[in-house]
Amino acid sequence: MLKNLPIGTQTDVLIEPRTFFNEKELKEILKKCGLKITKQRVAVLKVLSSGPRYHKTAKDILEEVKKNFPNIGFATIYRLLKRLSQAQMILEISMGAGSSCYELKTKQQSHYHIACLNCGKIIEFKNKMIETTLEKIVLEKNYTLKNQVVEIYVNCDSCKNQ
Ligand SMILES: [Zn+2]
Ligand SMILES: [Zn+2]
Repeated sequence: MLKNLPIGTQTDVLIEPRTFFNEKELKEILKKCGLKITKQRVAVLKVLSSGPRYHKTAKDILEEVKKNFPNIGFATIYRLLKRLSQAQMILEISMGAGSSCYELKTKQQSHYHIACLNCGKIIEFKNKMIETTLEKIVLEKNYTLKNQVVEIYVNCDSCKNQ
């Protein structure tokens, strides 16, 4: 369903503007993941931390990084994304049909996502009521909340009739 999406052409709707990570901070992220610092890896992180889209597919990243590192392949990108995700440095937003968007975690609070299944646009939002409800459900079970992910899929206003 999402295979032919023009992902990367839509601007994300962010709840607040992103703070850019400088090169030193990006290298710090690699170190925290136990990864060796390479120019390619830093380049991948740079793409993840720059806009107008802050939620990017592996394809978006590959296309950007390829401009400076023509030999980089999907496998390298995926391996790095997996490591970053395991270390909880990035957030993976499943877009269905095996496609995902990735977002570098920022210092700001966690937020939820509304994704348009047609154009791939991602709209971020926060909602105290959802947050409190999720915390309550977890607490009632006597669990400790570690992470919460809410993904909502829509046809956005410009794609309503498709
Ligand atoms: Zn749309
Ligand atoms: Zn986001």
